[in-house]
Amino acid sequence: MSKSVLITGSTSGIGLGIATIFAKNGYQIMFHGLEANGAEIASNIGEKFKVKTGYSNANLLDSAAITQLVEDTVSQLGSIDVLINNAGIQYVSPIEDFPNEMYEKIIAINMNAVFYAAKAAWKYMKEQKFGRIINISSVHGIRASEFKSAYVSAKHGVVGMTKVMALEGAPYNITSNAICPGYVRTPLVENQIKDQAKAHALSEDEVLEKIMLIKQAVKEFIPIEAIAEMALLLAGEHATTITGSTFTLDGGWSAQ
Ligand code: NAD
Repeated sequence: MSKSVLITGSTSGIGLGIATIFAKNGYQIMFHGLEANGAEIASNIGEKFKVKTGYSNANLLDSAAITQLVEDTVSQLGSIDVLINNAGIQYVSPIEDFPNEMYEKIIAINMNAVFYAAKAAWKYMKEQKFGRIINISSVHGIRASEFKSAYVSAKHGVVGMTKVMALEGAPYNITSNAICPGYVRTPLVENQIKDQAKAHALSEDEVLEKIMLIKQAVKEFIPIEAIAEMALLLAGEHATTITGSTFTLDGGWSAQ
Protein backbone atom coordinates (compact mmCIF):
# COMPACT_ATOMS: atom_id res chain seq x y z
CA MET A 1 0.00 0.00 0.00
CA SER A 2 1.29 3.45 -0.79
CA LYS A 3 2.35 5.63 2.10
CA SER A 4 0.14 8.39 3.53
CA VAL A 5 1.21 11.89 4.37
CA LEU A 6 -0.64 14.55 6.35
CA ILE A 7 0.52 18.03 5.40
CA THR A 8 -0.90 20.87 7.46
CA GLY A 9 -1.57 24.08 5.56
CA SER A 10 -1.36 22.26 2.22
CA THR A 11 -4.08 24.18 0.39
CA SER A 12 -1.75 27.17 -0.09
CA GLY A 13 1.88 28.14 -0.68
CA ILE A 14 4.71 25.83 0.40
CA GLY A 15 2.37 23.10 1.69
CA LEU A 16 0.58 22.90 -1.64
CA GLY A 17 3.93 22.60 -3.44
CA ILE A 18 5.01 19.81 -1.08
CA ALA A 19 1.67 18.01 -1.55
CA THR A 20 1.99 18.19 -5.32
CA ILE A 21 5.46 16.59 -5.35
CA PHE A 22 4.41 13.89 -2.88
CA ALA A 23 1.32 13.09 -4.98
CA LYS A 24 3.51 12.90 -8.08
CA ASN A 25 5.62 10.35 -6.20
CA GLY A 26 2.62 8.15 -5.36
CA TYR A 27 1.87 9.22 -1.78
CA GLN A 28 -1.71 9.40 -0.54
CA ILE A 29 -2.28 12.92 0.71
CA MET A 30 -4.35 14.34 3.54
CA PHE A 31 -4.78 17.96 2.54
CA HIS A 32 -5.44 20.50 5.23
CA GLY A 33 -5.95 24.25 5.40
CA LEU A 34 -8.49 27.00 5.73
CA GLU A 35 -8.72 27.97 2.04
CA ALA A 36 -12.32 27.86 0.78
CA ASN A 37 -11.37 25.72 -2.25
CA GLY A 38 -9.46 23.15 -0.15
CA ALA A 39 -11.69 20.18 -0.99
CA GLU A 40 -11.49 21.02 -4.69
CA ILE A 41 -7.67 21.26 -4.58
CA ALA A 42 -7.50 17.86 -2.87
CA SER A 43 -9.72 16.13 -5.42
CA ASN A 44 -8.04 17.78 -8.43
CA ILE A 45 -4.55 16.70 -7.32
CA GLY A 46 -5.84 13.24 -6.45
CA GLU A 47 -7.31 12.87 -9.93
CA LYS A 48 -4.28 14.30 -11.70
CA PHE A 49 -1.78 11.95 -10.04
CA LYS A 50 -4.17 9.03 -9.44
CA VAL A 51 -3.66 8.93 -5.68
CA LYS A 52 -6.13 8.86 -2.82
CA THR A 53 -6.61 12.21 -1.10
CA GLY A 54 -8.62 13.61 1.80
CA TYR A 55 -9.22 17.12 3.05
CA SER A 56 -9.79 18.75 6.42
CA ASN A 57 -10.15 22.35 7.54
CA ALA A 58 -9.38 21.58 11.20
CA ASN A 59 -8.54 24.73 13.13
CA LEU A 60 -5.00 24.44 14.48
CA LEU A 61 -5.91 26.72 17.38
CA ASP A 62 -7.90 23.80 18.79
CA SER A 63 -5.87 20.86 20.14
CA ALA A 64 -8.86 18.48 19.99
CA ALA A 65 -9.37 19.37 16.32
CA ILE A 66 -5.70 18.56 15.64
CA THR A 67 -6.06 15.13 17.24
CA GLN A 68 -9.18 14.59 15.12
CA LEU A 69 -7.25 15.64 12.00
CA VAL A 70 -4.73 12.84 12.62
CA GLU A 71 -7.54 10.34 13.32
CA ASP A 72 -9.29 11.43 10.10
CA THR A 73 -6.07 10.89 8.16
CA VAL A 74 -5.81 7.31 9.44
CA SER A 75 -9.49 6.54 8.87
CA GLN A 76 -9.59 8.05 5.36
CA LEU A 77 -6.17 6.96 4.07
CA GLY A 78 -5.47 3.86 6.17
CA SER A 79 -2.32 5.12 7.92
CA ILE A 80 -0.21 8.13 8.80
CA ASP A 81 3.38 7.50 7.70
CA VAL A 82 4.62 11.04 7.18
CA LEU A 83 3.55 14.15 9.08
CA ILE A 84 4.57 17.48 7.64
CA ASN A 85 3.88 20.32 10.06
CA ASN A 86 3.80 23.20 7.63
CA ALA A 87 0.93 25.55 8.50
CA GLY A 88 2.01 28.87 9.89
CA ILE A 89 1.10 32.51 10.17
CA GLN A 90 3.07 35.73 10.58
CA TYR A 91 2.53 39.09 12.22
CA VAL A 92 5.05 41.90 12.13
CA SER A 93 5.16 44.57 14.84
CA PRO A 94 7.56 46.17 17.32
CA ILE A 95 7.41 44.41 20.72
CA GLU A 96 5.77 47.28 22.56
CA ASP A 97 2.83 47.37 20.14
CA PHE A 98 2.58 43.62 19.52
CA PRO A 99 -1.03 42.59 20.27
CA ASN A 100 -1.10 39.84 22.93
CA GLU A 101 -3.75 37.88 21.05
CA MET A 102 -1.55 37.79 17.90
CA TYR A 103 1.45 36.69 19.96
CA GLU A 104 -0.57 33.84 21.45
CA LYS A 105 -2.08 32.87 18.09
CA ILE A 106 1.33 32.60 16.44
CA ILE A 107 2.75 30.48 19.26
CA ALA A 108 -0.37 28.25 19.09
CA ILE A 109 -0.39 27.69 15.31
CA ASN A 110 3.33 27.79 14.53
CA MET A 111 4.58 25.84 17.56
CA ASN A 112 1.95 24.21 19.77
CA ALA A 113 0.13 22.63 16.81
CA VAL A 114 3.37 20.86 15.83
CA PHE A 115 3.41 19.19 19.23
CA TYR A 116 -0.27 18.19 19.21
CA ALA A 117 -0.10 16.73 15.69
CA ALA A 118 3.04 14.72 16.42
CA LYS A 119 1.62 13.56 19.74
CA ALA A 120 -1.52 12.25 18.02
CA ALA A 121 0.47 10.56 15.23
CA TRP A 122 3.01 9.03 17.61
CA LYS A 123 1.13 5.85 18.57
CA TYR A 124 0.50 4.95 14.92
CA MET A 125 4.10 5.59 13.88
CA LYS A 126 5.45 3.67 16.90
CA GLU A 127 3.17 0.70 16.20
CA GLN A 128 4.13 0.47 12.52
CA LYS A 129 7.81 1.16 13.29
CA PHE A 130 7.90 3.86 10.66
CA GLY A 131 7.36 7.56 10.99
CA ARG A 132 8.73 10.64 9.32
CA ILE A 133 8.06 14.00 10.97
CA ILE A 134 9.11 17.02 8.96
CA ASN A 135 8.66 20.42 10.55
CA ILE A 136 8.72 23.49 8.35
CA SER A 137 10.50 25.96 10.60
CA SER A 138 12.29 28.93 9.02
CA VAL A 139 15.64 30.64 8.90
CA HIS A 140 13.92 32.49 11.75
CA GLY A 141 14.20 29.21 13.68
CA ILE A 142 17.94 29.84 13.90
CA ARG A 143 18.29 33.59 13.32
CA ALA A 144 16.31 36.63 14.51
CA SER A 145 14.91 39.68 12.79
CA GLU A 146 13.38 42.69 14.45
CA PHE A 147 9.56 43.04 14.67
CA LYS A 148 9.02 39.25 14.56
CA SER A 149 9.14 38.34 18.26
CA ALA A 150 6.33 35.77 18.19
CA TYR A 151 7.36 34.14 14.90
CA VAL A 152 11.05 33.87 15.81
CA SER A 153 10.17 32.42 19.23
CA ALA A 154 7.80 29.85 17.76
CA LYS A 155 10.19 28.81 14.98
CA HIS A 156 13.12 28.45 17.41
CA GLY A 157 10.79 26.35 19.57
CA VAL A 158 10.02 24.10 16.62
CA VAL A 159 13.74 23.48 16.02
CA GLY A 160 14.14 22.43 19.67
CA MET A 161 11.05 20.23 19.57
CA THR A 162 12.30 18.58 16.38
CA LYS A 163 15.40 17.41 18.25
CA VAL A 164 13.43 15.96 21.18
CA MET A 165 11.17 14.07 18.77
CA ALA A 166 14.26 12.67 17.04
CA LEU A 167 15.62 11.35 20.34
CA GLU A 168 12.32 9.84 21.51
CA GLY A 169 11.50 8.47 18.06
CA ALA A 170 14.84 6.78 17.39
CA PRO A 171 13.94 3.36 18.87
CA TYR A 172 10.85 3.18 16.62
CA ASN A 173 12.25 4.38 13.27
CA ILE A 174 10.45 7.68 13.76
CA THR A 175 12.67 10.44 12.41
CA SER A 176 12.16 14.16 12.92
CA ASN A 177 13.81 16.98 11.01
CA ALA A 178 13.30 20.68 10.47
CA ILE A 179 13.52 22.56 7.20
CA CYS A 180 14.47 26.21 7.57
CA PRO A 181 13.76 28.22 4.42
CA GLY A 182 14.66 31.82 3.70
CA TYR A 183 12.04 33.88 1.87
CA VAL A 184 9.58 32.05 -0.37
CA ARG A 185 7.09 34.03 -2.43
CA THR A 186 3.74 32.81 -1.04
CA PRO A 187 0.57 34.52 0.25
CA LEU A 188 2.23 34.67 3.72
CA VAL A 189 5.11 36.72 2.31
CA GLU A 190 2.89 38.93 0.15
CA ASN A 191 1.18 40.00 3.41
CA GLN A 192 4.53 40.58 5.10
CA ILE A 193 5.72 42.82 2.30
CA LYS A 194 2.76 45.08 3.08
CA ASP A 195 3.31 44.87 6.88
CA GLN A 196 7.06 45.52 6.62
CA ALA A 197 6.42 48.49 4.36
CA LYS A 198 4.22 49.94 7.10
CA ALA A 199 6.58 49.11 9.99
CA HIS A 200 9.66 50.52 8.25
CA ALA A 201 7.89 53.32 6.33
CA LEU A 202 9.18 52.02 2.98
CA SER A 203 7.64 51.28 -0.41
CA GLU A 204 6.94 47.60 -1.21
CA ASP A 205 9.81 47.51 -3.74
CA GLU A 206 12.18 48.95 -1.13
CA VAL A 207 11.11 46.21 1.32
CA LEU A 208 12.23 43.52 -1.13
CA GLU A 209 15.54 45.22 -1.84
CA LYS A 210 16.42 46.64 1.58
CA ILE A 211 14.90 44.12 3.99
CA MET A 212 13.68 40.80 2.66
CA LEU A 213 16.50 39.64 0.46
CA ILE A 214 19.26 41.70 2.05
CA LYS A 215 20.34 38.90 4.41
CA GLN A 216 20.43 36.22 1.70
CA ALA A 217 23.68 35.91 -0.26
CA VAL A 218 21.60 34.63 -3.19
CA LYS A 219 19.16 37.47 -3.84
CA GLU A 220 16.31 35.23 -4.97
CA PHE A 221 13.23 33.81 -3.32
CA ILE A 222 13.65 30.13 -2.36
CA PRO A 223 11.76 27.95 -4.88
CA ILE A 224 8.92 25.95 -3.31
CA GLU A 225 10.10 22.92 -5.31
CA ALA A 226 13.45 22.91 -3.47
CA ILE A 227 11.68 22.66 -0.12
CA ALA A 228 9.34 19.98 -1.48
CA GLU A 229 12.22 17.86 -2.80
CA MET A 230 14.06 18.14 0.51
CA ALA A 231 10.90 16.96 2.30
CA LEU A 232 10.59 14.04 -0.13
CA LEU A 233 14.15 12.94 0.64
CA LEU A 234 13.54 13.15 4.40
CA ALA A 235 10.34 11.10 4.07
CA GLY A 236 12.03 8.22 2.26
CA GLU A 237 12.70 4.64 3.37
CA HIS A 238 16.46 5.27 3.39
CA ALA A 239 16.32 8.37 5.57
CA THR A 240 16.32 6.38 8.84
CA THR A 241 19.57 7.91 10.09
CA ILE A 242 18.77 11.44 9.00
CA THR A 243 17.18 12.71 12.19
CA GLY A 244 17.32 15.61 14.61
CA SER A 245 18.73 17.84 11.90
CA THR A 246 17.99 21.33 10.74
CA PHE A 247 18.24 21.88 7.00
CA THR A 248 18.65 25.47 5.91
CA LEU A 249 17.49 26.42 2.43
CA ASP A 250 18.15 30.08 2.89
CA GLY A 251 20.28 31.37 0.02
CA GLY A 252 23.29 31.58 2.37
CA TRP A 253 21.55 33.77 4.98
CA SER A 254 22.74 31.70 7.96
CA ALA A 255 26.24 31.22 6.49
CA GLN A 256 27.01 34.71 7.81
P1 NAD B 1 0.60 30.35 3.37
O1 NAD B 1 -0.02 31.53 4.04
O2 NAD B 1 0.64 30.31 1.88
O3 NAD B 1 -0.07 29.01 3.90
C1 NAD B 1 -0.34 28.80 5.27
C2 NAD B 1 -1.32 27.65 5.42
O4 NAD B 1 -1.62 27.48 6.82
C3 NAD B 1 -2.67 27.89 4.72
O5 NAD B 1 -3.12 26.71 4.11
C4 NAD B 1 -3.59 28.27 5.87
O6 NAD B 1 -4.97 27.96 5.64
C5 NAD B 1 -3.03 27.40 7.00
N1 NAD B 1 -3.41 27.91 8.30
C6 NAD B 1 -3.13 29.13 8.84
N2 NAD B 1 -3.75 29.27 10.02
C7 NAD B 1 -4.42 28.12 10.26
C8 NAD B 1 -5.25 27.64 11.32
N3 NAD B 1 -5.53 28.39 12.40
N4 NAD B 1 -5.79 26.41 11.21
C9 NAD B 1 -5.54 25.66 10.12
N5 NAD B 1 -4.77 26.04 9.10
C10 NAD B 1 -4.22 27.26 9.17
O7 NAD B 1 2.08 30.27 3.99
P2 NAD B 1 3.47 29.67 3.43
O8 NAD B 1 4.33 30.81 3.10
O9 NAD B 1 3.25 28.60 2.44
O10 NAD B 1 4.06 29.08 4.78
C11 NAD B 1 4.07 27.70 5.10
C12 NAD B 1 5.06 27.46 6.23
O11 NAD B 1 6.38 27.83 5.80
C13 NAD B 1 4.77 28.31 7.48
O12 NAD B 1 5.02 27.55 8.64
C14 NAD B 1 5.79 29.43 7.36
O13 NAD B 1 6.11 29.98 8.61
C15 NAD B 1 6.96 28.68 6.75
N6 NAD B 1 7.91 29.56 6.08
C16 NAD B 1 7.52 30.39 5.07
C17 NAD B 1 8.46 31.20 4.46
C18 NAD B 1 8.07 32.13 3.37
O14 NAD B 1 8.92 32.98 3.02
N7 NAD B 1 6.89 32.03 2.78
C19 NAD B 1 9.81 31.15 4.86
C20 NAD B 1 10.17 30.28 5.89
C21 NAD B 1 9.22 29.48 6.49
